[in-house]
Amino acid sequence: MNKGKKLYEGKAKILYEGPEKGTAIQHFKDDATAFNNLKKTTVEGKGVLNNRISEHILKNLNQIGIKTHLIKRLNMREQLVRLAEIFPVEFIVRNIATGSLTKRLGIPDGTILSKPLLEYSYKNDELGDPLVAAEHILEFKWVKSKHQLDTINNYCLRINDFMQGMFRGVGIKLVDFKLEFGMAKIDDKDEIILADEISPDTCRLWDVLSEKKLDKDRFRKDLGNIIQAYQEVARRLGIIHEESNISKVKFGKPKAVNLKKK
Ligand code: C5P
Repeated sequence: MNKGKKLYEGKAKILYEGPEKGTAIQHFKDDATAFNNLKKTTVEGKGVLNNRISEHILKNLNQIGIKTHLIKRLNMREQLVRLAEIFPVEFIVRNIATGSLTKRLGIPDGTILSKPLLEYSYKNDELGDPLVAAEHILEFKWVKSKHQLDTINNYCLRINDFMQGMFRGVGIKLVDFKLEFGMAKIDDKDEIILADEISPDTCRLWDVLSEKKLDKDRFRKDLGNIIQAYQEVARRLGIIHEESNISKVKFGKPKAVNLKKK
């Protein structure tokens, strides 16, 4: 499928114009970044795995009635997606306290939350994606109405329920994750759709027994074996098998890590 012009290049993905109006091609890169771009590397094969893992999860979410931007996967690194007008808000769902939550509030790492905790951050690299309240989202019209925000909040909790079960079934705890939503026209109707990706780049995933991290924290915390962890997630979800081509993709060592002081 021919790609149109580049619409946007993010840290881990590139979006190109799609073949038809209202479509785009989402390309998954091997680049990994953390701490608002202060730490960077390339993890050979990561884009291929995230493409497959995200396709798997979004397809399953579609089956439980969550509309997503995914139309179909095109190849090892690309998906055909609906072009959405993305709300400038990251929706973060947490089941276990870790990461920025524990840092911010001094809560012991690993504290199990009594119910899923939903947080919002304003998507703005210059400001470092600050945490915001629902009131900010409504006041500054990042989402159009209270009704829209309630709908998205509901989707977040349904997605969490579904994903927790899916991962638990393969021995993985879904600790937390980030979602992005946008508006798109589907059959001439404006709909809220789930966009971006869901992958070990955007979720924290811990092995149920060993609590081994199977996600981007392996890169953030210099734990090594990043690609092996992503492969493990794909294998457990039944996306890749030992004998499949994707297992034969050569995964090199991460290249230069560049960590400037924050
Ligand atoms: O860093 P923090 O603890 O706030 O991250 C919460 C969750 O959101 C983690 O799973 C992380 O991978 C994800 N996240 C993300 N993109 C961001 C910020 C957080 O995918 N820009």
